[in-house]
Amino acid sequence: MENFVVSARKYRPITFDTVVGQKSITSTLKNAIKNNHLAQAFLFCGPRGVGKTTCARILAKTINCQNIKDNMEACDECESCTSFNNSASFNIHELDAASNNSVEDIRNLVEQVRIPPQVGKYKVYIIDEVHMLSSAAFNAFLKTLEEPPAYAKFILATTEKHKIIPTILSRCQIFDFKRIGIDDIAKHLQFIAENENVKAEQDALHIIAQKADGALRDALSMFDQIVSFSGGDINYKNVIENLNVLDYDYYFRIIDAILAKDITQCLLIINEIIDNGFDGQHFIIGLGEHLRNLLVCKNEATLKLLEVGENIREKYGQQSQTCDSKFLLEALEINNRCDVSYKISNNKRLLMELGLMQMCSIGDTPANQTATKPIQVKVVPKPEAKKEVAPTPKQEIKEETVEAPKPQSYEKKAEEIKSPPVVEEAKEETTSAAKTKIPSSFSIKDFNKKEEEKTEAQNGLTDPADLPATDFDQEKLDGVWTTYLDSLKSSLPGFSSALLKYKPLLKDDFLVEFNIDNKIIASDHINIADLQGHLKEELNNYKIVLKPVVVKKQEQQTAYTDKEKFEKMAEKNPDILNLKNKLDLEIDF
Ligand SMILES: [Zn+2]
Repeated sequence: MENFVVSARKYRPITFDTVVGQKSITSTLKNAIKNNHLAQAFLFCGPRGVGKTTCARILAKTINCQNIKDNMEACDECESCTSFNNSASFNIHELDAASNNSVEDIRNLVEQVRIPPQVGKYKVYIIDEVHMLSSAAFNAFLKTLEEPPAYAKFILATTEKHKIIPTILSRCQIFDFKRIGIDDIAKHLQFIAENENVKAEQDALHIIAQKADGALRDALSMFDQIVSFSGGDINYKNVIENLNVLDYDYYFRIIDAILAKDITQCLLIINEIIDNGFDGQHFIIGLGEHLRNLLVCKNEATLKLLEVGENIREKYGQQSQTCDSKFLLEALEINNRCDVSYKISNNKRLLMELGLMQMCSIGDTPANQTATKPIQVKVVPKPEAKKEVAPTPKQEIKEETVEAPKPQSYEKKAEEIKSPPVVEEAKEETTSAAKTKIPSSFSIKDFNKKEEEKTEAQNGLTDPADLPATDFDQEKLDGVWTTYLDSLKSSLPGFSSALLKYKPLLKDDFLVEFNIDNKIIASDHINIADLQGHLKEELNNYKIVLKPVVVKKQEQQTAYTDKEKFEKMAEKNPDILNLKNKLDLEIDF
């Protein structure tokens, strides 16, 4: 078997034009060579695997070429080029600062810089991971960097530009390498596959490119890995398996399920994804991406933002036609909320499931909301129920007009057509049916009402007149009142003490008034309703109505006028008034 050379090395670009995805940088460098405007020092920054070292080597080779071509590429034939290609050139020195970061290492380098090149014009020093140099090493290097011999060129490369001290930055021409686009990587992989006689599906290569996240070197090692795994047949399925990528297919299926409002299917898909060992957050991020891609498909102009293979592009096109932009935006919103709260959530799975359920109900939210309004309840009647009430021909007509929700005015007209008694009956039928079915918005008033209804139902009594209303006196009321509130001392200390401060007052018709000076507690309907319920039960009187009376705190009234002052004095000491009366005095206020 022939020697296996990893693709990243075998296909390392040797000319500027073959560098993948860094067009602007390579053309700037070429221009600099053409105009003889080469800086003394370069700083190449950017993520790993995007071609920094490769470009540095090409630059070193090109400026030393004895026979540069018109397009500013090295000739690949001269003595210098061949020695470069055989890695035997003395004009290029590479130093990995990650492992050689001491002052000593830099001093050795500086020593070498003093010796001029034997062949070619330039000596090129490539210092990789330059941010790893110790600060002493940086300082030792500064002088050389500031005034290097004319034949010396420095190319510093780093993934972390922010760690480079400003004195170095200011002495370098800086090139920012960007992440390589998915399409560029996929094309390059395609090129390699063709050269290597490897069968490769477009979509599969796109998945590799995507997973590489802009780093060509990573993409190439994945490519090699899958070639050896699949025996030279790269297809979508074995890439997904091999790279443990969350398949597009999951997302297409889940959106289909959401559009069909099929919550069961959504939950099953989530389960499948979790069972396959995928991280929930990855799924959420992927779903966001998927929704975004669908949105992008909606418009010709943004179609180019879709970085996927051809087959998948077609699938996106199809799915995007089944959902409208409003749905996509709302789903994205929900997904985004999910993403934000994922880290802090204690039940991550439930959070994901809940998100999907919310997406499932995107379309019906407004309808549900209006259904809680009493007016709409009338609009959504059950046709069967109506038929039972009055199967008159008129009624039949009415049904047809009401079936679809219509504006209210229309509905009213329709009601007017009907004979009055039928209207009454039909209304009651439908509202009560709707009441039990549709969860209405919750309010304390409703709650109290429901509680009352519940107790009534329990006793099997619906007519208020049939409710027990045993007579009781103030003393009995006081007793029940105090015992109950005392029992709340630990659970509701504020409520209990505020109500115990004053005694309740029994009025006519079992109205029980009680004073309270805390307005907030006076509006604590839930606890007051509980108290009322307790009184009813204990005193066996279901006509008791509790009425809180907020007591205004006696404000200290300051006497301002003379008259007020006199009245105040008289109040404190009635003798003053007696004196005035006895002597028949008239006081001049
Ligand atoms: Zn050459």
